[in-house]
Amino acid sequence: MEATARETPAQLAWLQGQIGRPFPFEQYGVLGLASGYDGVALETATLSTFGAGLSLPPKDEAPTLVHEMTHQYFGDAVAVRSWDDMWLSEGHARYYERKYAAARGFTDLNAELKDLYEQDQQNRSDSGPMGHVNNPIALLFDTDAPGQLMLTGLNTIVGDETFHRIEQTFFDRYRDRNASTQDYIDIANRISGRNLTQYFDNWLYSPTTPPMPGHPEWHSPAKASGPAVSR
Ligand SMILES: [Zn+2]
Repeated sequence: MEATARETPAQLAWLQGQIGRPFPFEQYGVLGLASGYDGVALETATLSTFGAGLSLPPKDEAPTLVHEMTHQYFGDAVAVRSWDDMWLSEGHARYYERKYAAARGFTDLNAELKDLYEQDQQNRSDSGPMGHVNNPIALLFDTDAPGQLMLTGLNTIVGDETFHRIEQTFFDRYRDRNASTQDYIDIANRISGRNLTQYFDNWLYSPTTPPMPGHPEWHSPAKASGPAVSR
C-alpha cells in the first residue's frame, strides 16, 4: 500500500480533472494503519485511512485510494441528508473509482458494468432498491454498484458535457452542506432540460432492475424461485 500511496498526487490530479473542481479541502493525506485494519478503507475528511498490512497489486489498491478520495467530494464535502441518500456518496465514489481503474487499463469497464447489471436484480431482491435498502450493511455494499450503473446510464442519456455540468452544479450547490436524492434529481432535470424523474425513481425505488440506457440487450435475471426468505 505504501508504494500505491505515493501515487496520491497523480490520482488527485486525475480526479480533479474528472470532476472539474479543485479538491474541496485545504489538505489531503492517506494514513496506513498497521494492524487489525486490513481490507478496510475509510474516507475520513482530509485523511483517508487504509489497512497497511496487505500488499496487493496496484490494480486492486489504486482504485480503492481513488474511491476514498472521491468521497472527499461526495460524502464529506457534500454530506448525505439521510441514509436513503447514501447512493449519493457510495455511487459517486464507485463511479469515479471504476473510471479510474479503466483509465489505468486495470479493467474493461463495459464488461464490468454488464456483470454488475446482471447481478442487480438479485441484489435488489435481497437488499431492497438502493433508495430504500433494508439493512444497515446494505447501505455500504448495495448502494455503490447500482449508483454507478445509474450514473453511467445518466451519462449515456444526457451526454458527457451535460453530465459534467450536472455533477459540477450539484457539487457547487451542496458543498459544505448536506443533500438529498431529490436535490440531485432536481439539478439533473434543470441542467439537462429533461424530466428524468422516472429514470431515477426506477433505479432508486423499483423492485425490478430498469433497462440499461445504451444497452437494451443487457438482462438482469430474476431470482431463481425457491422458498421465500425474509430478512
Ligand atoms: Zn465508499
